Amino acid sequence: MSKYNFCAGPAMLPQAVMQKAQKEFLDWQDMGVSVMEISHRSKEFLALTAKCEASLRRLMNISDEFEVLFMHGGGRGQFSAVPLNLHQADKKAIYCENGVWSKSATDEANKFTSTTRVDVRNDADGKFSIKNVADWVLPADASYIHYCPNETVDGLEIFEVPSHPTAPIVADMSSTILSREIDVDKFDLIYAGAQKNIGPSGIAIVIVRKTLLDREGLAKPGILDYALEAKQGSMFNTPPTFAWYLAAEVFEWLEAQGGVKAMEAQNIAKAELLYNFIDESPFYSNKVAKHCRSRMNVPFWLNDESLNEKFVSQSKEAGLLALEGHRIVGGMRASIYNAMPLEGVQALVDFMAAFAKENS
Ligand SMILES: *Cc1c(COP(=O)(O)O)cnc(C)c1O
Repeated sequence: MSKYNFCAGPAMLPQAVMQKAQKEFLDWQDMGVSVMEISHRSKEFLALTAKCEASLRRLMNISDEFEVLFMHGGGRGQFSAVPLNLHQADKKAIYCENGVWSKSATDEANKFTSTTRVDVRNDADGKFSIKNVADWVLPADASYIHYCPNETVDGLEIFEVPSHPTAPIVADMSSTILSREIDVDKFDLIYAGAQKNIGPSGIAIVIVRKTLLDREGLAKPGILDYALEAKQGSMFNTPPTFAWYLAAEVFEWLEAQGGVKAMEAQNIAKAELLYNFIDESPFYSNKVAKHCRSRMNVPFWLNDESLNEKFVSQSKEAGLLALEGHRIVGGMRASIYNAMPLEGVQALVDFMAAFAKENS
């Protein structure tokens, strides 16, 4: 039986990548040792990191105006790094809030800098929704604008990019990076913890406009210092080498699949299949307004919630793993990142249809 893992994170990785990693686990590039057992400053590992960065730059079309950093500490590490690096004494940081993660980012930033929260939700008629980006009211003077294009817990995605006349735009792309084409030039700083759509946990990708590296910010730990990490080739201290290696393998796999454009087409097909089924079913529902439904994280509810436990246990028996919803939101959630094939979503829809029939 094929098994499909719908975990929100750490999430499934492409099977081809896992098989390659397994094959070369004990002996990488005929060196007689694992990639985990060599110096991060060896020429072999430096070749890997160079290849990794080049591949990411091609995938996302990242220009030379940007530095690409591979840092420690996942998404939340960046919740601290962003204010520490971008703080300006006389200005406030604007935090646009549309769900669990963006609120959490504000809470962390408040430890270091002064923030203004801007609520960009406009839930109505029992539907969760987000205001059009053009209607966001962003104060004129700000050190930076932070927002979260894909709220992993709430299942809300913002497809437009906000803009501001002077303040840099910072985006937490932990759960949407590489899932669809974006224009990196519209951003000043993009960050993402790896474990949703890139590789294993332990590493975070930071794409930062070089001009921002001149900001003094606040006193900060070396491992969260963008300018220092840029100068040191992301090797101020020992990086998470195995996570970096796997990220490079995932990027190579993505390029072989046809890059982000091909991924986006498949992600649209997967999301439509699942949302259309839910919308047409009297048994299930999704509470997110259509224009801001996440393509990566699909929360859904059984209209009869007393069947939740039965749904979770029977789906697991059917090889569909980790469908239980986030404790804050309840219900179910299917995370369908790049590594999830269309067949996995089809298997889920088939199971949901059979379950609905049996229990109606
Ligand atoms: C998972 C996630 C985070 C937190 O990532 P960690 O690596 O666990 O710190 C932050 N933001 C978003 C949008 C996420 O999905």
